[in-house]
Amino acid sequence: MIASQMADIQIGDSDLAKLRQVLQGELVFPGDTAYEQARRVWNGAIDRRPAGIVRCADANDVQRAIEFARRRDWPIAVRGGGHSTAGFSTSEGGLVIDLSPMKSIRVDPETSTAQAQAGLTLGELIQETQRYGLATTTGIVSDTGIAGLTLGGGIGWLAAQYGLTCDNVSAFEVITPDGVLRRADPDENPDLFWGLRGGGGNFGIVTNFHYRLHDVGPVLAGMVIHPMAQARKALRFYRDYTATAPDELTAYAALLTTPEGERAIAFILCYAGELQEGERIVKPIRRWGPPVVDLLRPMSYLEAISLIDAANPAGRYYAEKGNTVPELKDEVIDILVENASAGTSPFSVTLIQHLHGVATRIAPHATAFPVRKECYVPVHIAAWEDGDAARHRQWLRTSTDALRPFELKETYVNFMSEEGSARVRSAYGANYDRLVALKNRYDPDNLFHLNQNIKPNISPDAGW
Ligand SMILES: Cc1cc2nc3c(=O)[nH]c(=O)nc-3n(C[C@H](O)[C@H](O)[C@H](O)COP(=O)(O)OP(=O)(O)OC[C@H]3O[C@@H](n4cnc5c(N)ncnc54)[C@H](O)[C@@H]3O)c2cc1C
Repeated sequence: MIASQMADIQIGDSDLAKLRQVLQGELVFPGDTAYEQARRVWNGAIDRRPAGIVRCADANDVQRAIEFARRRDWPIAVRGGGHSTAGFSTSEGGLVIDLSPMKSIRVDPETSTAQAQAGLTLGELIQETQRYGLATTTGIVSDTGIAGLTLGGGIGWLAAQYGLTCDNVSAFEVITPDGVLRRADPDENPDLFWGLRGGGGNFGIVTNFHYRLHDVGPVLAGMVIHPMAQARKALRFYRDYTATAPDELTAYAALLTTPEGERAIAFILCYAGELQEGERIVKPIRRWGPPVVDLLRPMSYLEAISLIDAANPAGRYYAEKGNTVPELKDEVIDILVENASAGTSPFSVTLIQHLHGVATRIAPHATAFPVRKECYVPVHIAAWEDGDAARHRQWLRTSTDALRPFELKETYVNFMSEEGSARVRSAYGANYDRLVALKNRYDPDNLFHLNQNIKPNISPDAGW
């Protein structure tokens, strides 16, 4: 299959020549100077060679690329920011529909809204909205794509105050597998609007997101660091501290190795309310220990989502898995610390995220995103540079498996690796059947399958 696809690519191939002619953007093939760079994604461990990459300039390009791939029966991979650790945004053979050149953004300060094209990164979105003192919930690393993050859910510093990123979408512009550009909002295609908020890229290619924005001024953010020897005690303190966290405060804990080579535990947090009140709220975390290093200070929200960028460089080898646990029991803490202490690389991290506040006060069936109760989300990120993958992947498996007895079955798909369809089903919990019905309706051929895939269960011939 792949060999024949590759053989298909000939200069002078009339379909390809036509596609190239009608595109506003670029079509990149193996052998083109731009190919090596264009095929790369954030995770250096993903080394795939697509048969072609369409670097889309606009929604028309996306429609033409879908039509081309459909006619040729080529698998489609869709790329926004290219941060999928599992490598869903590229493929071996097939066509990558790359939206990363599509970066137009319009902020309306009157209505506190933004229309943002799918190729923007979180940093690019926030840089523009902050010109008006506005922002919406994003993840915590600025070069993550808005597209994959929003479609999967979007957890970050403002989720407790304003909901997940997907909760702040008022409309999507999406091209469904039939090539039609549709709007999905509470009135128009409400079923699709429901599924796009958490259901990932299963139903089409989103070209434009309409976001609700909020007034976000300087925040109190940063990290405080303690030696790993304190990790068990520190995590018990963290558990008690976060149990009473107001919506303005989101605090994570990270088990990591410092640049000096010391294993450590860091509290990483952001208080996005009034700064003086923030100083009062973070006092216990500043005093506990006391920390070896206290880097908490007022900063812009853009800076707060860029704090750990340098620790996640593009091109390093990564593998990632997460668990979702309802509480940080002592046994869970013991497992987290034991596994982190047995880490196989100084770049590997276990990041424990706290989900609370507004994001957890929305009903689990209101959007496709299913995890709507207060919980902790430990994500284990194995990262290495020496190419010896097996021991790092084993550490990841051990770390995740050890927490299985304590975890909720619903989990956040954006922190999963390729874990099979049973895991996707359980991740979506009670929302799964409705997602399958939606997939049957919009994508019965499973054209968009390179994702945390919701498989249709009707024959493709049944149509719409
Ligand atoms: C360093 C790092 C930090 C992260 N931090 C956070 C965090 O704080 N909070 C959080 O919630 N998540 C976080 N994530 C997870 C992140 O949400 C997912 O990796 C997300 O998929 C990235 O989106 P992307 O557009 O960059 O990815 P891509 O790799 O481009 O795409 C990911 C998936 O989305 C699909 N997709 C992309 N664009 C579109 C589109 N326009 N239309 C339809 N489908 C599309 C792709 O096909 C693929 O299946 C982080 C990931 C990394 C690597």
